Parts: sequence; structure tokens; C-alpha cells
Amino acid sequence: MRRCIAIGLALCLLFTGCALPGKGKQQYQATYLDVFDTVTSISAVTDGEEIFRQQAEGIHGLLLRYHQLFDIYNDYPGLNNLKTINDHAGIGPVKVDGEILHLLNDCRDYYERTNHAVNAAMGSVLRLWHEARTAGLDDPAHAALPDAAALQKAAAHTDWAAVEIDEGAGTVYITDPELRLDVGAVAKGWSAQRAAEAAPRGFLISVGGNVCATGPKDDDGTPWVVGITDPDGGSEYLHTLYDTDRAIVTSGDYQRYYVVDGEIYHHIIDPATLYPARRFCSVTVICRDSGLADALSTALFVLPQAEGETLAESCGAEAMWVDLEGNRFYTPGFQNWICG
Ligand code: ADP
Ligand code: MG
Repeated sequence: MRRCIAIGLALCLLFTGCALPGKGKQQYQATYLDVFDTVTSISAVTDGEEIFRQQAEGIHGLLLRYHQLFDIYNDYPGLNNLKTINDHAGIGPVKVDGEILHLLNDCRDYYERTNHAVNAAMGSVLRLWHEARTAGLDDPAHAALPDAAALQKAAAHTDWAAVEIDEGAGTVYITDPELRLDVGAVAKGWSAQRAAEAAPRGFLISVGGNVCATGPKDDDGTPWVVGITDPDGGSEYLHTLYDTDRAIVTSGDYQRYYVVDGEIYHHIIDPATLYPARRFCSVTVICRDSGLADALSTALFVLPQAEGETLAESCGAEAMWVDLEGNRFYTPGFQNWICG
């Protein structure tokens, strides 16, 4: 069975530095475990530890804010977030931060651009899978699939027409009482993009494997090197990629899953079948914008490869697919980024 990494939610900061030979500077890395239920790492080469620490904390603070705004499971005192909007479905509009309006407008755009393969208005379907997976992980002997009739019923409440985004009033109103928003497919990449735009040049920000570079690693133009995890759990990377100014995002079936009757059921749901997509075990996307890269990595995981390739091309993105037999497919320009 593929490996499973369980990550506790306790606040944890690991802070490391290493000298760069002959350059008089150090490369520092800060690791956080308290945003988006995943591992976030921030790296940069700077003149001193204190300046790095301040800059990393600034980025971390921004990510923490997005984590709270886009959370669909928890309330925060004095904050209207996506859970507040979901809780008011069919009840009334909710006044929210402009960043939520921005994200939801982008989500609707991703939905159109990905031929509906990524649908953040599919929260009612995703919630059934989330509940079944959580229960199955807690009690593996009784792990079960969500009820098929319940999935069908939920799928009737996934229409963006029921999500009213009022820019003027600064509100969001879900008019369908059964519809729920879930931005899990894009929130990490979207937030990493905002963080990258606010960060100094030369930083590498990774939010759960959604990686963004804000410039080369060093003044002499040395690029960052980003590894793509082997979906079969091998210790070697599938590839290492150069990165100076791109987002690199991977969606994989090995990241979140549970087992029912010996079968793996992962967390990326094909809206056409309402079951986990079964074409690939890993898809990596390289793109200028990290929010779009995150949406694309999920979309390309769901769509047939030819359709995904056309989509990637239309977005100016490169992609690599790994199918269930381990075969790899690439867009033509992907090789330009491979360093090993
Ligand atoms: P990860 O979050 O592990 O990096 P993805 O970016 O592919 O992986 O997002 C998966 C998450 O997105 C799921 O946990 C679920 O909340 C949500 N999701 C799954 N399938 C879809 C889909 N087809 N459209 C929109 N959201 C989805
Ligand atoms: Mg994604």
C-alpha cells in the first residue's frame, strides 16, 4: 500500500539555515504545520537570520489569514468565512472580505475554463466523501462508500447560478439551501500566489506541494530546484525541475485516501461520475499563476489526457501525467524545465 503521511495540526515552526559555500550568505527555511492542514515551507537566501525570520513570518501571517477565510469546517470569532456563507445557504447574503469575493470569482472562472472538471460549488458532494473518508480512517474495519443515492441527490445542488456574488454590497448569497462551497482544489495554490505576490524576490513558497518561486535563488540567477514526488512512494523524485518564476503544482491519489474492501478511494472527485477519478495517479502542472496551476492540476487529474492537454495549452501551462501503470505523458514544453 502507498504511504500515508499523517500531519498533526499543532502549531509548529521548524527553522533551519545552511551556509552557501563561498557566498557569505545563508539559505534559510521555515516550516509551518498550521495552515491548510498541510506542510508549508518558505525558503530564501538572505544576509541574516533575523531578516529572513521577519519576511517568512509576514508570508506565514498572510497564509494564516487565507486559511481562516477559506475554511469550511471551523468558525473564527468576528470573522465571516466560507463556512459562514455555507451556513447561510438559503437564508441570506453574508458580508465578507474582498479576498473571498476575489477567490470565488476566480473559482467560477476555473469552473468555466476547465470544462466544469473543477467545481468549487460541488461542496455537498465533496462533503459526503469527506465524511465517509474521515469515518473510514477512524474505523478502517467499517470503512464504507458514501450512499450512491445521497451522492446523486447532492449532485443536483452544484450550480454556480445559485451563488450570488454582489461586488457592490460585498456579499455572497447561496440561494440553493442544499448547495455548499468547497475550495479545497484551489485554495492552497491561490493563497500561495497571493503570498508570492507580496513576498520579496528570490523566495520559494511551498504550501502542501503547491510551489511558487518569486525569483532565482540567488543574485547570480541560480534557479531553485523542485522535486516531483513519486506517486508509488519511491524515495527518488520522478523529476527535479528548475524554477525561478513559476508555480509548480502536483495533484496525486496518494495524498488523501481511504480503503474500502481493499480498494483505494482518494480525494479528487470526477464531477461526471461523482466517484474518485481513475485515469491517473499524479498530474504536475507548471504555470505562471499558482491559483490557475492548482485548478489545472485537479482538472487534468479528472479529464482525459487529450482534453487536458488542449486545456493546458490554452492556459499557457505545461503538464506531466502519470497513469495507473506508471506511464508518463508530457506536454511538449515540459522538458524545458527538467533538470534531472
Ligand atoms: P490537494 O488538495 O491534495 O493538493 P487538489 O488540489 O487536487 O489536491 O484538491 C483536492 C481537494 O479539492 C479535495 O480534497 C476536495 O476538497 C476538492 N475536490 C476534489 N475534487 C474536486 C473537483 N472535481 N472539483 C472541485 N473540488 C474538488
Ligand atoms: Mg488542485
